[in-house]
Amino acid sequence: MAVKQKMNKEQFLDNYKKIKGRIHSIETFGAVDGPGIRFVLFLQGCYLRCLYCHNPDSWDLNGGQEINLKNILKNILAYKKFYKKGGVTISGGEPLLQHEFLYHLLDALQILGFHSAIDTNGFVDLKFSKKCIDKADMLLLDIKEVDEDDCIELTEQSNENTLKTLNYCQEINKCVWIRYVCIPGYTLKNEKIHKLAQLLQQYSCVQKVQLIPFHQLGSYKYKELKIPYKLESTPIPTSEEMYEAEKIIRQYNLPL
Ligand code: SF4
Repeated sequence: MAVKQKMNKEQFLDNYKKIKGRIHSIETFGAVDGPGIRFVLFLQGCYLRCLYCHNPDSWDLNGGQEINLKNILKNILAYKKFYKKGGVTISGGEPLLQHEFLYHLLDALQILGFHSAIDTNGFVDLKFSKKCIDKADMLLLDIKEVDEDDCIELTEQSNENTLKTLNYCQEINKCVWIRYVCIPGYTLKNEKIHKLAQLLQQYSCVQKVQLIPFHQLGSYKYKELKIPYKLESTPIPTSEEMYEAEKIIRQYNLPL
């Protein structure tokens, strides 16, 4: 760590005390959001409205809790030894909506020697997101839907910027793990999985495809927030259905 010799840790962290962001929550031992054991910071705010979102309380950009970057970094450093083979993932909500804050965080993580990943839906225009994508070690990129119209039905937003984000990652050879939530009756259809695989085949930057089974764990939050929840009667996928979907991805020689 270059900062070691030049200033002590407290002085270094003080540089970040005026940089503030809004967070939804923190997970100190994340095992599924990128390689290894990770500190996962969930930032507040999202413009998508995925029907299956299990964190509708993360949507409001003004919600959550304001926190300064110094405190977040102190928190990460407290668990440092656990993240040697893992790192830090910044998720959301949509973390790139707070791109200024995110950039400073990624910069500090780079100086401190942590591996960093942004878990994003790719919705934020590249004009704002590029700087952060360049700075991060990798992206976990959600492809919500391969078909534009179905994407709008599922999330209220187009997938255009997500695909542009993927193109940019290919251009700069940034490591990407794709995440695709499998929802029976929506995204979990053979023709859609084939279409996803055919799309991803064109990208050498894609180093993993994660098919995530839809679940109902966040449904209670909709009741609490008095937001209509449209997937109440949607079943969770069976293990056979997930196996079939993975089989299709494998047919295209994509890494799972
Ligand atoms: S992108 Fe994520 S946080 Fe935003 S609505 Fe969809 S699932 Fe929820």
